[in-house]
Amino acid sequence: GMGGMGGDPFSNPFDLFESFFGGGMGGMGGMGGRQSQRNRPTQGDDERFDLQIEFLEAVFGCEKELDCMRLEECGECTGSGVKAGTSPKTCGTCGGQGQVVATVRTPLGNFQQVTACNACGGTGQTFTPCSACGGDGRVRRSKRISLRVPAGVDSGSRLRVRGEGNAGRKGGPPGDLYVFVGVKDDPDLKRFESINVSSTVTIPYTKAILGTMQKVRTVDGTVDLKIPAGVQPGATLLMAKRGVPKLGQPNVRGDQYVTVKVTIPKSVSGKEKELVEELEGLSN
Ligand SMILES: [Zn+2]
Ligand SMILES: [Zn+2]
Repeated sequence: GMGGMGGDPFSNPFDLFESFFGGGMGGMGGMGGRQSQRNRPTQGDDERFDLQIEFLEAVFGCEKELDCMRLEECGECTGSGVKAGTSPKTCGTCGGQGQVVATVRTPLGNFQQVTACNACGGTGQTFTPCSACGGDGRVRRSKRISLRVPAGVDSGSRLRVRGEGNAGRKGGPPGDLYVFVGVKDDPDLKRFESINVSSTVTIPYTKAILGTMQKVRTVDGTVDLKIPAGVQPGATLLMAKRGVPKLGQPNVRGDQYVTVKVTIPKSVSGKEKELVEELEGLSN
């Protein structure tokens, strides 16, 4: 339920839908049969909101305020659709039955045909529509919704906020709000297998031979990475637990994989050339 959550503005209940839940959303579509149920309470449609967040916001989670357009109960008529100060009247055409019977003459004889009353739309009542909502009982408005985005979401994640979709008609329950998450790229860090991060580090050939300590960007900030002597170009070094918290299990974290690129000078001259030639002599 939505009650009993006072105090914490970010306490909307939500469910997680990972990207592989590719199917349709519950409650969307399904317009058939609505015409004949015009007077009954119907559940409101689900609403979609597209949320773009930064790379690190997705990694560690964040709190967002969404300005969401959706149908809300009309305050003028409290959802009835009936103009304030008036009340519905029994339909004069069908006498409140919602149906009219017509006699159809055919060569085989006369048949009674029952159809929905056009004058009242099958409801059996006529009323003066509320001017604020045109008789629908709902108006489209923007509402600010506080959403806690959990650590580990990725592009394609969907968050469901129960009961924050469109209001139902005639007192029916509201639909849900589905927040579709999009995550911006980071210039250095790439996610893979949802919880791991890859990046590259570039060092000169001398440091590849001798080994070095290199500053490396991680989701936790800049960290020293020890590159061992004799590291090979294209080698991958593992930085354990520097990856992304697992969605729904934030204590579990992935790793960061750092691929080493080695630069070799296109040309050497002077002292450097002499030294390389001396090395070449040594190794023969
Ligand atoms: Zn009628
Ligand atoms: Zn109204």
